[in-house]
Amino acid sequence: MATEPRTTSQPAALRRDRQLELYRRALKTLPGGTDSNFRAWGDDTIYVDRGKGGRVWDMDQNEYIDLRMGYGPVILGHNDERVDDYVNEQMRKGVSFSLTSEDEVRAMELVKELTGWVDMARMTVSGTEATMHAMRLARAFTGRNKIVKFEGQYHGVHDYALISVGPDNMSDLGDADKPVRLIWGRGIPEAVADTILPARYNNLAFLRRLFEEQGDDIAAIIVEPIMGNAQAIMPEEGFHAAVRAMTEEFGILLIFDEVKTGFRLAKGGASEYFGVTPDIATFAKAMGNGYPAAAFAGKREIMELLPDKVSHGGTYAGNRVAAAAAVKTLEILRDTAALETIHRTGRRIQDGLREVLNPSGVPYVFTGHPSMFGIMFIEAAPTEYRDWAKSDHALYDEVAIGMFARGAMPEPDSREPWFLCEAHAEGDIVDRVVSIFEDSFHAALEGRAHGATPEAAIGAMSHPTAG
Ligand code: PMP
Repeated sequence: MATEPRTTSQPAALRRDRQLELYRRALKTLPGGTDSNFRAWGDDTIYVDRGKGGRVWDMDQNEYIDLRMGYGPVILGHNDERVDDYVNEQMRKGVSFSLTSEDEVRAMELVKELTGWVDMARMTVSGTEATMHAMRLARAFTGRNKIVKFEGQYHGVHDYALISVGPDNMSDLGDADKPVRLIWGRGIPEAVADTILPARYNNLAFLRRLFEEQGDDIAAIIVEPIMGNAQAIMPEEGFHAAVRAMTEEFGILLIFDEVKTGFRLAKGGASEYFGVTPDIATFAKAMGNGYPAAAFAGKREIMELLPDKVSHGGTYAGNRVAAAAAVKTLEILRDTAALETIHRTGRRIQDGLREVLNPSGVPYVFTGHPSMFGIMFIEAAPTEYRDWAKSDHALYDEVAIGMFARGAMPEPDSREPWFLCEAHAEGDIVDRVVSIFEDSFHAALEGRAHGATPEAAIGAMSHPTAG
């Protein structure tokens, strides 16, 4: 990260010795030195020691206010004793039986209760598995093969999801009227990619044309209700309701990928927040406060294709640890004002950032929802992934890198929103985030005024969209 002071408000140099040593050791064994491409940040790769509440410490004992929260799952705070105590109590009974425990039933009952529309649900271990099974169910239910997905949306790392996700260069996505299927990385068969039809977010005319041309082959459209993996771009007023109506017109299923929005935007997630009911939904992240709990869920007539007609299984599906975490986390979200607290904290931070940004004259918009929001240096609110290229994201990157050096950790790429948790309301965290942002923003502007080239740090990140 940025360790060279180049501004009037000088950041403390981050200690990196132990992490660099571990990075070099890890590189010999783990490709990129990490277990996920999204964490491989080259020499800046962070090796974590511990977290508590809204804070995290790396192995060199640098302390940060955590604005990544593990890419969203940690909704209450790190090391939340309410959840951890219950998980510990349950795991002492043994963790893996490939038999069903009561917590699995309770967890999925809570998903039904909180969403209000889900009839049946099953647990998986990751969001990737959940979206994979949701797509398969949709194909099984409709007898059709194709799935529509929006450019810039991320649904995990299975083959069907890695199409038109998030290139840096928008021309890779092809003509705006005729987007190409952009396969992310090698090893994905063309035959698989051919079943995915890219569409453009917030563009109903495009969708109607696609449905009219190929509707008979389309099983479902999968949607991140807020583009959580692309700047948290919001749907335009009425967009989801219009998509819902169009899917019904063409007999196409609507899958809400609520991996990031579920149990965060509202107790009932994005479907409650936008007032639109999908046919199938996927959940993960906030449902387990960081434990590997995930689920796919839906209407009874679709879910009832399981167990006889559609394959789904998993040695760790509904494992003791995940089920216990989901039960306790969802109970807390149901019974306390945690979400109100998170939303209020997000608004307080945004108010503080406005006071910093408004006098600067730099155009900006907040994207997303106060609980997961992006800061985009752009004149007009973005409506789709391609708009990100129009923003001054290099400025954002510089600010983010400066924030690391000053003790706060947003994802160092503008495409990933800041994630807030309940514990961010504690102490002076809000004020510190605002003042760290302020110093970093002014330092970035001063750096530009003096012609400084942006830090190369974190350039090794292959892509921000994350899991
Ligand atoms: N869908 C969405 C919307 C996500 O944000 C993610 C993870 N970032 C996934 C699916 C994949 O989840 P996982 O990383 O648990 O496989």
